[in-house]
Amino acid sequence: MADFETSAVLYRNLHNKFLRLYRGKGSTLYLEDGRQILDASGGAAVACIGHGDPRVKDAIVAQLNKVSYCASTFYTTDVCEELCQELTNSTNGHMTRAYIVNSGSEAMEAAMKLARQFFLEKSPDPEPARSKFIARHHSYHGTTLGSLSMGGHVVRRAKFEPMLLDNISRVSPCFAYRNKDPSESDEAYVARLVDELDKEFQRLGPETVCAFVAEPVVGAALGCVPSVPGYFKAMRAVCDKYGALLILDEVMSGMGRTGTMHAWEQEDVVPDIQTIGKCLGGGYQPIAGVLVNRRVVDALSQGTAAFVHGHTYQGHPITCAAALEVQKIVREEGLLQNVRDMGSLLSARLQELLGSHPNVGNIRGRGLFWGIEFVKDKSSKSPFPATDNVAMEIAELGLTEPYGIAVYPGSGTIDGINGDHIIVSPPYNTTVEEVEKIGQLLTIPSPSNHLTST
Ligand code: PLP
Repeated sequence: MADFETSAVLYRNLHNKFLRLYRGKGSTLYLEDGRQILDASGGAAVACIGHGDPRVKDAIVAQLNKVSYCASTFYTTDVCEELCQELTNSTNGHMTRAYIVNSGSEAMEAAMKLARQFFLEKSPDPEPARSKFIARHHSYHGTTLGSLSMGGHVVRRAKFEPMLLDNISRVSPCFAYRNKDPSESDEAYVARLVDELDKEFQRLGPETVCAFVAEPVVGAALGCVPSVPGYFKAMRAVCDKYGALLILDEVMSGMGRTGTMHAWEQEDVVPDIQTIGKCLGGGYQPIAGVLVNRRVVDALSQGTAAFVHGHTYQGHPITCAAALEVQKIVREEGLLQNVRDMGSLLSARLQELLGSHPNVGNIRGRGLFWGIEFVKDKSSKSPFPATDNVAMEIAELGLTEPYGIAVYPGSGTIDGINGDHIIVSPPYNTTVEEVEKIGQLLTIPSPSNHLTST
């Protein structure tokens, strides 16, 4: 059993193909064998200010010299409060409280329980019958049982299906490349999706539904898929019609990744509850959070006066110190402007260099969050067989010579509808040179069995 001592060892045993990293600096990853990798994805769109920033290290060390841990039952810390203030300020006052946890999955679990507690405690008319959620197909909301239940990622759910919650149903995502007829206007497409959501509320009984849950730009499950204009506003209207909450999962697409601090800013909606994660701490510490609007906060304040939930490490001072420093760097260096500028360049380069490739079906995204979807046949959009593992093969090939580029793969795993994709999500402080290099490295002809060389 010695090999199973740690999860890392277990994982390595199963795959036996790990590269050993010894250093990360900026956008470059240095491998033990002397090779360098251009990190064009920051893991799963996490490393928003690049690797090894000494300012974050200093902030962590300074906090270690003050308070390294405290139980949130009795204590708060300046650093946690300052981070929460930074986060609520970033919403222009729309979200009034922040709750800090350690992973996106934990944030989603908390969001679900918050929604339920809201309906139990809202005064003067609590609605205890509300316990269901409507989420979307082809979504990913995390790996713990509640968050996995919320997501519609068929393969990640498959083995655990009998253990998943049965109070969650799903409607179609807004996925123009696959689901919108070319002759259909955006308005007509949105109207179709509104109708589907409305019917789902009716089927479940609107008085039993807590919330509609969606990612503003679908990340891991589809590869950076934004919605068409007007979609989220229309979905919000359906939620309002039935008195349900809108929960937006911005774990992957939030905290500046799409060019605005919150992806919902580009949708003309404000959620009731929002989850954030990856680019909150930029990978320097495991941290995620939940932002909550006044409506929900007021209900709880007048009810139990506390969220009936808690983790040993919630609001952890060291994770908060790291995230606060990352957020200050993003704000003080005006990095969101760079996300927009470099995002436009990246999108142009990807379209120009890969758009006409016979196996590139679609390139989509926002800010510095771009997905490239691969297809076997461009005109029919038919995906490669999932067993071919095309996206993983491309990502693994990228890590070899002569490429030396890290992209994030998502395999064509979901009931044959989407194909394989890779995500390109460089840090917010990426440069013109790095964007050009990403383009160059992605277009070195490939010896792959699957992809047709241009
Ligand atoms: N929600 C979304 C949209 C995600 O992309 C992820 C992770 O990829 C999660 C939730 C879960 O976050 P974590 O892996 O930190 O638990």
